[in-house]
Amino acid sequence: MRIAVCPGSFDPVTLGHIDIIERASQLFDSVIVLVMENSTKTTMFTVEERMDLISKSICNDNIKVDTYNGLLVDYARQAGAVAIVKGLRAMSDFDYEFQQALINKSLYQKIETVFLPAEGQNMYLSSSMVKEVGRLGGDISSYVPKAVAKEIYKRCKGDK
Ligand code: ADP
Repeated sequence: MRIAVCPGSFDPVTLGHIDIIERASQLFDSVIVLVMENSTKTTMFTVEERMDLISKSICNDNIKVDTYNGLLVDYARQAGAVAIVKGLRAMSDFDYEFQQALINKSLYQKIETVFLPAEGQNMYLSSSMVKEVGRLGGDISSYVPKAVAKEIYKRCKGDK
């Protein structure tokens, strides 16, 4: 059984993330979407809310959602994962992602990082862009799953 982990903050999950997760699920027997806690980032959604929004947006038996607040490679080792799957958008992602891949490999030799290129329409799509457009009252329905759009609109209405 070949297991892959798709880690991220997913605050909130976008259609760009969903595309990468679903493509990973075609390549591996099982995919774990790992919502990482990051105490240095202020998030719009709690870890539980982020996990719930991912679960509502994906219906595929070989995709599971989990959370972890330690080292990614420790989670991967304990889950028996063989790969970390990341999406690559513009070149701007490359430097950081390459650095992460090298560090993870040196911490845990058995893990490979697999990069999947973002689809053209998702190239400039990020969670922070979606939150900003949502806050300003713009239409985010083509960037995020329905459940996410609904939740952002609800929260942004409360802001005003
Ligand atoms: P962000 O970088 O927007 O804060 P995350 O940390 O949640 O998002 O990202 C998790 C993973 O998803 C990263 O590998 C990132 O490159 C990838 N990703 C994010 N947005 C997209 C997108 N629009 N298309 C493809 N991959 C993406």
